[in-house]
This record gives sequence, structure tokens and C-alpha cells, in this order.
Amino acid sequence: SSDSTLPELDASSLKTTLTQNPQPVPLPDSPEVLAQKTCTDHMITCSWTLTTGWQTPELKPYGPLTLMPTASVLHYATECFEGMKLYRGYDGRLRLFRPQLNCARMLLSSARIALPGFNPDELLKLIVKLCATDGEKWLPKERPGSFLYIRPTMIANDPALGVQKPKEALLYIILACFPRMDKGQEGMKLLASKDDMVRAWPGGFGFAKVGANYGPTLICQGEARARGYDQILWLFGPESSVTEAGASNFFIVWKTRVGQTQLVTAPLSERIILDGVTRRSVLQLARERLSGSDDNVEVVERKFNFSEMLEAYDEGRLLECFVAGTAFFISGVGEIGWKDRSLTFKLNEDGCGRYAGLIKASLKNIMYGKQAHEWGYVV
Ligand code: PMP
Repeated sequence: SSDSTLPELDASSLKTTLTQNPQPVPLPDSPEVLAQKTCTDHMITCSWTLTTGWQTPELKPYGPLTLMPTASVLHYATECFEGMKLYRGYDGRLRLFRPQLNCARMLLSSARIALPGFNPDELLKLIVKLCATDGEKWLPKERPGSFLYIRPTMIANDPALGVQKPKEALLYIILACFPRMDKGQEGMKLLASKDDMVRAWPGGFGFAKVGANYGPTLICQGEARARGYDQILWLFGPESSVTEAGASNFFIVWKTRVGQTQLVTAPLSERIILDGVTRRSVLQLARERLSGSDDNVEVVERKFNFSEMLEAYDEGRLLECFVAGTAFFISGVGEIGWKDRSLTFKLNEDGCGRYAGLIKASLKNIMYGKQAHEWGYVV
């Protein structure tokens, strides 16, 4: 809130109204799940206004929102969101994965789009409350290894067309059924972007999870899908620097000319890529487990160009590429299309190269409670 005397976001005041009309839980990979339209029985909403601060949050039956046609978000994309998952562990417990990072990123994103601030710990408490309410039913104990997708969202709902900082906002949290994005042994197929379609640029907002970063990429993504690719590999600038892939961060493993194995990903410093929770976790695990070991992998965050990747590929030094993000998790890249070239990679049965496979297995063990770790947040 802009005025520090106004009420803050306060999860402890949550008002609960349970549904009278509980919905059936769809089977994994059923048509409803694939359509990504099914949400759980409840949602949480909380209103804010410039003059009254944060109102009482409410847990209530999932259903439509009411907005005036003049609502700011519908015209000026005053919106930000998060993407995280609730996992049903093999030990029967429900877990989030490093949810504090998502809540902190939501605050960063809201600030970039002039939406109100809030205490991220209170957002986390609300998320946990919704997960605790719907998780037991919607992630049956008999289906360990399953998950729901959590979408915290904030929109400006001022009913006025004036182009100005929002004076009214709505925070809401929904839980959605979400298909497995497993690509199998073929792996992910990426199409490198061309100069006429740029995702983000220095001084822009690529580092924030705002809706305005996604809508304008869909024409490019649609074209890629029509040509049999899964996602766009976003290149930037005259040097075609490699940034990220679709809604995932992008990693390569190569050997340098002097034979050093390196895990390389684009840096955050230019603020044109998202600071992914999975990205951070991959870097941290790789630094802990792959750099000192027999593997002796050097972990590097630095700018690199597509031409460097291509050269390494042609010289047989590009060992593997993979994407990392909440939706696609860790997925090996089987092919990259660029101009009239196609770079192809052999993957193991887990759809990953060697290093991605090691990291994926470690992360999975944490998410699904096979290994106790501070990153697993029990609900
Ligand atoms: N980049 C973009 C553009 C994304 O939308 C996402 C998904 N949030 C990611 C990277 C991966 O981030 P995370 O690991 O936090 O899901």
C-alpha cells in the first residue's frame, strides 16, 4: 500500500465460505485436464484500493470474476502472475517447491506494472491455505507423483479508462489441473527466433512475470507449433545472444576448446530473462554436486551467442541442451531449428542428456519427498 497506515495483506483474517457444489476430480491426462480449463473447488480473492488498502481475503467457491468493461487490466495489461505447483509426494504428503521465491518474484512483478505491494509471507500463507483446503481431494493419496498448478494473479480492476497507475486491484489464487508436459525420448524441439520477433529488451520488463510478456509471443509460438516445434528459443540483439526458451530458462553443456566441461546459461544482469526458480535450483545443485566431483563441470552464467553454440555443435563440443521451468520441468532438447539448419541431440530414456538427467532426478526426489530437503515445503 502507498500509505503505511492502511491495512496490509493479512492472511490471518481470511474469511472462508466452502462450496455447496463440489466438482468431480478428473483422471490424469483426461480431456478436461489436457484442455487446462478445470480448476479445483475453491479460490482465494483479496481486493485492494488506494484509499482503503488491502481488504479481508476470502476463500470461496471457484467461479467467475465481475469486471467492468473499462477495467484497467483489459486495456493496459496491468497484470502479473506466478506459476508454481503443488506436488503429491511418495510419502503421502503435499509439498510446494521453494514457494518463498515465487512470492518474492510476484512482488517484483507487481512493482514493475504499478500494482500494489504486499508482504510476500502473507501471500504464501494464503497459497498454503488454498492448497490445504483443496489438495487432499484434488491430489488423491493413491496418485503419488501427481501435481496441481498454482496460479496467483493480480489485476488492476479500476473501472475507468484513464491511463494511470491502478487505484484498485484484485489479487486471486486458483489451483488448476495441468497435464504432464513429458516430451519422451524425442525431447523438446525448439525453433530459434528471428530478428523480427523479440521477446524482451534491456530497459523493458522481461525480468517480470507480467502478462504483457506473453500475449505478443503467441503468434511466434503458434507458427513454431504449426511447424512441429514445441517452443521458441529466444535470441536477442545483433549478436543473437541466447536468452531463454518459451516459458523456461535454457541451459547448454559444452566442452571449451581446452576441454573444460561447462554448464552455461544466460545471466540475469541484463534483466531480459526471468529469474526462474528452477534455473536457480539447477545452478545451485550443479555447483554442489557436479563441479567438485569426477565430472568437474564448471557452472557459468554468462552471455553467449547462437554462433558460439553452432560452432561448438559443428566441432562436436556441444554435449547437450535443456530447458528448466515449472511447467516443462527439466526437459532435454532433441532438436533446434535455426534458419535452414537443424541441430539434433540424442537423449536418454528420461528425455534428457547425462547432466540434465542427473539434475532432474535430484529435483524430482526433493519435490516428491523421496529426499528430505529444505526446498521441499510441506503443506
Ligand atoms: N522464463 C519464462 C519467460 C517463464 O515464464 C518461466 C516460467 N515461470 C520461466 C522462465 C521458468 O521459471 P520457473 O522455473 O520459476 O518456473
